[in-house]
Order: sequence, then structure tokens, then C-alpha cells
Amino acid sequence: MAGINQKVVLITGASSGIGEGTARVLAASGARLALGARRTDKLKGIAEELAAQGGDVRYRALDVTKLDDTEAFADFAASEFGQIDVIVNNAGVMPLSPLLALKTDEWNWMIDVNIRGLLNGIAAVLPRMDAQGHGHVINVSSVGGFVVQPTAAVYAATKFAVRAISEGLRKESNKVRCTCIYPGVIDTELANTISDPTARENMKSYRKMTIGPDAIGRAIQYAIEQPGDVDVNEIVVRPLATQV
Ligand code: NDP
Repeated sequence: MAGINQKVVLITGASSGIGEGTARVLAASGARLALGARRTDKLKGIAEELAAQGGDVRYRALDVTKLDDTEAFADFAASEFGQIDVIVNNAGVMPLSPLLALKTDEWNWMIDVNIRGLLNGIAAVLPRMDAQGHGHVINVSSVGGFVVQPTAAVYAATKFAVRAISEGLRKESNKVRCTCIYPGVIDTELANTISDPTARENMKSYRKMTIGPDAIGRAIQYAIEQPGDVDVNEIVVRPLATQV
């Protein structure tokens, strides 16, 4: 199936930022959407707004750290729409801190959401995609998947992991397409999870130059709308005026 119209796209972490921006871009392109995140009030508002503009959008509470919940999200999408074509594994958190601060709970939180959650997304759809002979897994890494900044050791490690998982999936499957997206600094709620004062202060200059989440939505749209035998594997999108 080429193009994007009528494709069923699951988006994790769709309640704000890049997930929400991607939902807006894809809904306007005619995709049918299943949105997942923990804040269902936000999902409801986005889904209602997109539906009012003619979009075909459903939503369900989702905690990607739980495999059974992620499988239930995929089952929900399949029962609502009858098929699954694409998953955008986007949910992520970024509580940055220096390693010496020993914020081990926050390290585990990032590992749970950014790695385990992404793997849960893959596990929830891959058997179905393999059986139907086509599908598309889109993973959201970061420029932190290439370069490690102070306070970002664990966050970057999770994003290096996303890159490794994406490359492994690409090589293992010639039925399922795999795209890894590497955003630069995007204007979202991501930095709100930072509790460490040093990291919070650093973010003020680091996040000065941003672009909107729709820039990532358009990159994802591009990857999806390619002909079925074209696998766009990696896309890096940064603000023009950035040194990061
Ligand atoms: P936001 O904080 O705006 O969005 C994060 C999303 O993840 C929210 O919708 C949140 O929803 C969801 N989420 C968090 N934890 C869970 C969970 N356990 N289960 C389900 N959903 C969850 O930030 P961004 O939009 O920036 O982040 C999206 C992705 O983009 C992340 O993977 C991030 O690492 C990546 N990224 C962002 C960059 C940026 O500069 N903004 C740069 C590079 C990469 P809820 O709280 O409702 O569950």
C-alpha cells in the first residue's frame, strides 16, 4: 500500500509535543489514527479537534512501560480500524542530571519509557505486521542518539539504544519498514521532567533555538508516504540555527 491516505497509524506519547504534532500532520494527510498516552484528557481534546476537521481519530489510555497495556492499545486500534499499518514509537521522558547526582530512579524511568516502552510498542505490532507481510515501525530517537552532552549520559544511552534497535529491525525484516527519526531541539514539554537544578539551568541556553513539532510530523509523513518498497531508514531534523 503506497501513500498515506487511510493508513492506520498508532502514535504513542500523542498527548503533547512531537506526538501531538505528528497526529495533526498525519490526520490532515488522511491517515486514520490511534493515539495513546497517560493523559487521556489531553488525548480527548486533540481527538475531538481533529475529528471536527474531518479526521478519523481514536484514543486510548496507554502506559508504554507495560507490555499488556501496549498490546491492548494495539488490539484496540485493530478492532476500531480492522488493520494496523504503522506505529510511531514516540513516548519518551528526559529527566537529565549529572551521573554523580545518583538520580537512579530517574535513570530507571528513562530506561523504562524510552527503551522498554519502545520495545513494547514493537512487540505489540510486529507479529501482526510480519503475518500480513507489510508494516512500518517508526522510532523516535534524538540527536542524543549520536552525541552525548554532560547531564545526558543516561538519556543519550536510551537514544543510542533506539538507534541500535532500529538498525537491528531494519536488518532482520524485509517485510516491515523501519524508520529512525533523530530530532534536534523541538519546542515541546520534554524538559519539564528535569528535576536536577544544574541540568535545568543548562537547558535554558540549550533549548533557546527550537522549531515546532510539526517539523518532525512532516518528516514522519515523508517516510510513510514513500512507495512500499522504499524504506527511509534515518532522518535527522534540527533547527537551522543550532550548534547542537
Ligand atoms: P513531550 O514531553 O511533549 O511528550 C512526551 C510524550 O510522551 C507525552 O505525550 C507523554 O504523555 C508521553 N509519555 C511519557 N511517558 C509515557 C508512558 N509511560 N506511557 C505513554 N506515554 C508516555 O516531549 P516530546 O514531544 O519532545 O517527546 C517525544 C519524543 O521525542 C521523546 O521520545 C523524546 O525523547 C524525543 N525527542 C524530543 C526532542 C525535543 O527537543 N523535544 C529532541 C529529540 C528527541 P503522557 O504524559 O500523557 O503519558
